[in-house]
Amino acid sequence: MTQRLVIAIDGPSGSGKSSAARGVATRLGLGYLDTGAMYRAVTCAFLDAGVDPSDTAGLIASTLGAELEISTDPSDQWVRVNGADVTERIREQEVSSVVSAVATLPECRADLVARQRAIIDAAPSGIVAEGRDITTVVAPDADLRVLLTADPEVRMARRRRELGEVDADALADQVLRRDADDSKLVNFTTAADGVVHLDGTYLTLEETIDAIAGMAGQ
Ligand code: C5P
Repeated sequence: MTQRLVIAIDGPSGSGKSSAARGVATRLGLGYLDTGAMYRAVTCAFLDAGVDPSDTAGLIASTLGAELEISTDPSDQWVRVNGADVTERIREQEVSSVVSAVATLPECRADLVARQRAIIDAAPSGIVAEGRDITTVVAPDADLRVLLTADPEVRMARRRRELGEVDADALADQVLRRDADDSKLVNFTTAADGVVHLDGTYLTLEETIDAIAGMAGQ
């Protein structure tokens, strides 16, 4: 029997960690967990419940009560919350602009971290999980832990390509403001002990996947 392999990848918005993590999972035949999609799905739940982002108790109740299902197939990604498919909706600006409200509440993080650990533990051959606190909190015992960064100009340019038509304010909100808010509770700008720092500023997606797969000894 081959050994299970767990790879944890963290990084700021636009660092390319989602594409890289999905690519590594596909190449190595592993599952893929987009933990940001879980924070985003819970955001849909509180918006649907009419909870204001400043209502702490409402955000906690919406998160703890959310029925969350997420695909770990790197070639078929979907996410459902309270029975509704929110795969497309989680990428909309309405969600991106308030997702940090959930991510900055310790009670919400604890709930989502527990769900993420259960998914990682259940992956039969292993999994590539990516987010902001995977290398430090969710899976500190992962076989390989990588912090993937890139210069802010490159991250903004990547997001612009993903989002298509978007004004400068929305782009700055998606990348710089969100990173600033997200880093209040979680450090994803410097690599913790035992975490490999990979600067992807000058790397193509293929080169990034090669580098991570190589570190995993594959
Ligand atoms: O990675 P993505 O941009 O989709 O993440 C959406 C949001 O989810 C982040 O801005 C952050 O607030 C939150 N997040 C987090 N911890 C993770 C993954 C995402 O706080 N592990």
